[in-house]
Amino acid sequence: SAMREERIKKTKTVCTYCGVGCSFDIWTKGRDILKVEPQAEAPANGISTCVKGKFGWDFVNSEERLTKPLIREGDEFREAEWEEALELIAGKFTEIKNEHGPGALSFISSSKCTNEESYLMQKLGRAVIGTNNIDNCSRYCQTPATMGLFRTVGHGGDSGGIKDIEMSDLVLVIGSNTSESHPVLSTRVKRSHKLHNQKLIVADLRKHEMAERSDLFVKPNPGSDIVWLSAVTKYIVDQGWADETFLANKVNGLKDYVRSLEPYTMEYASEATGISIADLIRIAEMIHKAKTVCALWAMGVTQHLGGSDTSTAISNLLLITGNYGKPGAGSYPLRGHNNVQGASDFGSMPDRFPSYEKVTDPSVRSKYEKAWGVDLPAEPGLNNHEMIAAIHDGNLKAMYVKGEEMGIVDSNINYVQAAYEKLDFFVVQDIFFTRTAQFADVVLPASPSLEKEGTFTNTERRIQRLYQVLEPLGDSKPDWKIIMEIANRLGAGWTYDHPSEIMAEAVQLAPLFAGVTYDRLEGYKSLQWPVAEDGTDTPLLFTDGFPFPDGKARLVPLAWTHPLSYESEYDVHVNNGRLLEHFHEGNMTYKSKGITGKTPRTFLEVSAALAEEKGIKTGSLVRLVTPYGQVKVQAHITDRVRGKEVYLPMNDSGEAAINLLTSSYADKDTDTPAYKEVKAKLEVLEAE
Ligand code: SF4
Repeated sequence: SAMREERIKKTKTVCTYCGVGCSFDIWTKGRDILKVEPQAEAPANGISTCVKGKFGWDFVNSEERLTKPLIREGDEFREAEWEEALELIAGKFTEIKNEHGPGALSFISSSKCTNEESYLMQKLGRAVIGTNNIDNCSRYCQTPATMGLFRTVGHGGDSGGIKDIEMSDLVLVIGSNTSESHPVLSTRVKRSHKLHNQKLIVADLRKHEMAERSDLFVKPNPGSDIVWLSAVTKYIVDQGWADETFLANKVNGLKDYVRSLEPYTMEYASEATGISIADLIRIAEMIHKAKTVCALWAMGVTQHLGGSDTSTAISNLLLITGNYGKPGAGSYPLRGHNNVQGASDFGSMPDRFPSYEKVTDPSVRSKYEKAWGVDLPAEPGLNNHEMIAAIHDGNLKAMYVKGEEMGIVDSNINYVQAAYEKLDFFVVQDIFFTRTAQFADVVLPASPSLEKEGTFTNTERRIQRLYQVLEPLGDSKPDWKIIMEIANRLGAGWTYDHPSEIMAEAVQLAPLFAGVTYDRLEGYKSLQWPVAEDGTDTPLLFTDGFPFPDGKARLVPLAWTHPLSYESEYDVHVNNGRLLEHFHEGNMTYKSKGITGKTPRTFLEVSAALAEEKGIKTGSLVRLVTPYGQVKVQAHITDRVRGKEVYLPMNDSGEAAINLLTSSYADKDTDTPAYKEVKAKLEVLEAE
């Protein structure tokens, strides 16, 4: 009936589950989610979604949602009103700042939250407290990719859009389980491969779906990607296949770079990586023959001791072959969370303001000092990795974590959780009572994406608006409101009535977003940064050169950082990553019945050879032990993994949590944990 029709509401939102940035209409009636309806005009996905975007929303109505602030009383928590919780936070922050200085406080933003919330969190840290101790979880995944791109081409983002990947002659996928981690994007590659003769090369430890479909699958030894990338690049140069015109006009540093490639002969690379010389030559030939090449990579590249260098090597290869600044080509570090790109873009980094301007640059600082009416710290702050060490050292006393299950997703969580125990004051803001929240002094109930407005930036640098679908549940509030209320209790006097006002302030200060307005983002409209003041955006980067003073890109010489070494008793390599159905630690997806019905728990992928050696059957309970901790998990025998390499999905926060096994070793240039460099002892607990 007409009455009933009226009560059904359709609202456009942007998916909260990955960096592809699918947008769609959500149909609701009251708090019931009736259906997810993709629209042809959605810029990243059209009418496609994956299982998470389609069915992953029940968690918003979960009984387990936080609906009231909680305050610790001894080992228990009690419910409190906002007033009391906020007063307590403001009082403690002030006390700690007065006693130990602003550097004793730290702030963790979330790449699940909006751009506006990331902007406010760094403003709270910098302008209100006076510290640059602010970071976000892209440090755990993609900061090395951003670093590799800053060094070589000057912008830390995907070169083009999903349509460039679609139209490319050759897609090179390195250390990315694309079909499970970026499902809708992977369907574009699958389609072009099938229908348009696109070629696909996959380099990975694990024979996942994309590897199965590829024209060439190579399996390098763990942590050796930089070696085969450098050897292939050297071979291309030696054959005279480099793009001489492009290099002469648009690139610096060729001579030194070519000299640095000398050790990377085919023989050496084949020995170091385990890839045959024939396959290495085939990769070089396929790249040579392709008019356009897109390189896609993810955590398999970045989460290593040399993650930034390997990302740089990928970019070097693309520069040598002229694969920047033209449609269908370029670098595509696939951003994991929905707003990994935006959390850093909008300044939640210890050394950068929004737009990646450096905190050490006096002219940039004075711009912000004028706008905010305060003095700002000139020294870069601590990143999230350094924060944990600083707590152990007694130098960091307070932490405010927003929307981040840091106590599970950081590496070496026994060590991280021990740090939390030492904090004088710990505030956790989330939608559920997370494992991290168990260590908090105050827990604040936040609202998920469906209950607020704002913008997310997807892996294509595409800024999109989300509209409010539901009212905040119980007493929960959008993160931006909570941050503002804390700031105002500390005397900030902020008066934002709507996220659009926060964006309006940010774009005045951040040149990459100069022309971004909510009007220009209305409905399904979107903008890919940089956005000029007149609203012109940039779907494809580098068409007019590179953002360095002389307009030229830079080739960067590199050396191989060997992976972490372990005692010989730790003989099983533990690879790890995502599953299609679940999202990270599972706080949201394990609370969505549409998803848990399909994949209720995690498991360990074991090869037939290792199963035979250890007497493991599918269903056997096994234990993995590293110097840092242990997990218990059921085994699943599969031909996706080889020999003594196993795969543990990262979507468990209990006794199979991957980060009980990982170390505190990290990428040498960015401190991104070396999650992918884990070796363990494997013991069978119950044969079945
Ligand atoms: Fe959401 Fe990513 Fe799936 Fe799209 S591909 S629906 S953004 S999880």
